[in-house]
Amino acid sequence: MQTPTEVAHIPLYEVKRLLERAVAEPAFREKLQDNPAQVASECGFDWDPNEVRALWDQQYAATEPAATPVVTAFRERVQGLLSMRDSMRSGEGAHHPAYHKWRERQKHRFLLEMGQGKAHAIIHAPMALELNKGCSVGCWFCGVSAPKLSEIWAYDEPNSAHWRSTLTTLKEILGPIARWGFCYWATDPLDNPDYEKFCSDFHEITGQFPQTTTALSLRDPQRTRKLLQLSEEKGCRINRFSILTLKNFLAVHQEYSARELAHVECIPQNIESSMKYTKAGKAQDRQDRTDRAGNLVVTEEGGTIACVSGFLINMVDGLIRMITPCAASSKWPLGYWVVREGRFASAEELGRLVLSWLDSLANSIVQLPFVRLSPAMRVMEEEGQVVLVSDYGRVSFRGIPAQSARQVVSLLVDGKHTAEELALLNLYTSGMSETETLALLERLFDLGCLDEEPVVAA
Ligand code: SF4
Repeated sequence: MQTPTEVAHIPLYEVKRLLERAVAEPAFREKLQDNPAQVASECGFDWDPNEVRALWDQQYAATEPAATPVVTAFRERVQGLLSMRDSMRSGEGAHHPAYHKWRERQKHRFLLEMGQGKAHAIIHAPMALELNKGCSVGCWFCGVSAPKLSEIWAYDEPNSAHWRSTLTTLKEILGPIARWGFCYWATDPLDNPDYEKFCSDFHEITGQFPQTTTALSLRDPQRTRKLLQLSEEKGCRINRFSILTLKNFLAVHQEYSARELAHVECIPQNIESSMKYTKAGKAQDRQDRTDRAGNLVVTEEGGTIACVSGFLINMVDGLIRMITPCAASSKWPLGYWVVREGRFASAEELGRLVLSWLDSLANSIVQLPFVRLSPAMRVMEEEGQVVLVSDYGRVSFRGIPAQSARQVVSLLVDGKHTAEELALLNLYTSGMSETETLALLERLFDLGCLDEEPVVAA
């Protein structure tokens, strides 16, 4: 079912505009509370914001008698976007069994480490391809610490042929899931004048026009408009503008009509916005940054903006890394593990490298040098049974005798044994068969409870 664009003469894209401005601008939020009619008239809306009060007034929403049709329609629109995100996160279309198994495990691990709220926002995209070296924008909070823009990869020969064969190789190896890749990372897409050509190839080869996130929507509005149009024509349902300052936000709303941005999320990264910055990358070094009211604006706990469990590729220098998100730390300041790293000069080389990495992944406990409990997990006892607990989740040992479970966990905490050694020791001490112990370990591994963090930070 398609979400309608308008309900009771209220265009949903105008509702979206009202809400994003309320998030970005405290004075607007206050004015909306005090005088909704005046706000509507200033925005050029000919409808009453009270019709959608449940969307911008939390207190009202808590006691909302019954949702108005427009509130229901807007919530359905949001639900549609969340469903799309869920289908990107699902493993559907990941044809390579080793990649699929590894990615599923990273999803479980991330959930235990970061909790459902953050885990649901991460799509574990299969690949991100950078078309430049660095970024011209230079945001103080850049979660992936983009360096200054130093090189742009042109869509000329032989680059365009190399691009097409690189995408074809990745699609052949990964399967249809490759369509959820995108063409930026520590780069801004619009720094590259040929970005649209690269995206058109991406669409032709993977079947999906890649989603764009840019902080440069105002650099050349006509170009941005054409890109949005192309993207929409090719079936891409969502793009994003990063909003860096309040001035920038108001200029974006001035330049583009609400209808033009119907499928563009304006992400308010301005300091006055009610959103917090993720403590990763450059923001890690700016934990003392405050807004005008003196409130800290960088979140305290380790976070990440990394959303790839797959391949991060820079086309300028042929660098490829296999990465997966984690909480940013001194070891992993950019909020992702680097599991493998290499270089390629041709699509054939890239294909060989990726296949060899996938072949060499430890995807079963018998391939791990030692079986060890993940540092994110703690051991607890509940009603005479051992349980593994992280800050956000728990894993119990239902159906396993308490003594056996306790013994397995104690050996996992030791972390000195291979899976086979541990199974044998458990047989001697608790009487549980080796086959049962190995099956239990495999399950704990699949659930992300065992340590597989790469030893050396790249
Ligand atoms: S956040 Fe995006 S736009 Fe800003 S510096 Fe980093 S890569 Fe560039």
